[in-house]
Amino acid sequence: MRQLIDFVCKLFIEIFGAGALSKEQCIIYNDASANCPMLVRECNHKLIHPICIRLNCSDLSYWAQFIFQFSHELTHYVIRQYKVDKSAIIKWFEETICEAMSLYIVKLAGERWTECELASVKSSFGNSLVEYYQNKYNTTAESALSNCKSLSDLKELDQCCESNRVARSIERNYLFDSFVSMPYSIQSLVYYPLFMRGDLSAGYYTVNFADWTSSSNYSPLVDCLQNIQPKFA
Ligand SMILES: [Zn+2]
Repeated sequence: MRQLIDFVCKLFIEIFGAGALSKEQCIIYNDASANCPMLVRECNHKLIHPICIRLNCSDLSYWAQFIFQFSHELTHYVIRQYKVDKSAIIKWFEETICEAMSLYIVKLAGERWTECELASVKSSFGNSLVEYYQNKYNTTAESALSNCKSLSDLKELDQCCESNRVARSIERNYLFDSFVSMPYSIQSLVYYPLFMRGDLSAGYYTVNFADWTSSSNYSPLVDCLQNIQPKFA
């Protein structure tokens, strides 16, 4: 799937710069029998090197699924490059960002399909990609995130954020729309790890947006990211 990887990487480089994709070696492979796609960082609780992006495509000829999964995991990879502590993560927040980026990249890939080498094999596939992201976009459920009234509600949601992605679909779509309206601000999302609240033993659950907003890493997208974080006293 070299052509799809090259195409998606090209779109990422336009957004994040070449440096964000070349900081750390990474092996990409597909395992149709795995539980899920994943950025694999450890094995039996030991850090591995190089890290891997494991895809979980049912069939490698399913290009839309490949782009969808790869762009999600590649977003985790890019954000990781800005983490001092590589294990630190605000799961509910980072997953929502990756889901929105995944939709955004599938949309972009559909609109710019002629730039992919595989366009010579299937020239009209761009339409299928646009249809694919629209179907995902239109699959929503009531927001569990906006119903979080306390930090313990948020911790509970965080624990099942990978098994219940649709509970954050309203926020995913909101971020996707924000990416579409301000593509040049997308790059700034990689700085979120610099503003995480918490620590490794107690966990990280919220972002300190006041600090982010007053920093040199601020962009208008930060206001949109702030809007998806539940507000409680
Ligand atoms: Zn993920």
